[in-house]
Amino acid sequence: MPHKGFDIFIAEPQSTDARRCRVCGTTCRVTRNVFGPTGFVTAMAGLFRVHDEWVCPHTDQPWHGRALHLVTAIEDTPSKRVATLMREDLEELLQEHLRAS
Ligand SMILES: [Zn+2]
Repeated sequence: MPHKGFDIFIAEPQSTDARRCRVCGTTCRVTRNVFGPTGFVTAMAGLFRVHDEWVCPHTDQPWHGRALHLVTAIEDTPSKRVATLMREDLEELLQEHLRAS
């Protein structure tokens, strides 16, 4: 499940700036001219508009979900030491899976 602002980015139609996944650093794939809501609130309000969606190609992989969890936990933890440990776990996880692909 992609997480907006981490591994899925909404952009104006015909956006040219390639987005990089904030979880694994992979260049995202773009789907152009998507017609739909651009977020939870706009979905609830039934607001649809044309936009580009940049999504990480690994977003459906279980390891990517774990990596996303680590990234958000690193941002949330008030502890520098815990953050350092989790960053090491994240590095290890990414190396394990990105080397193979
Ligand atoms: Zn990614």
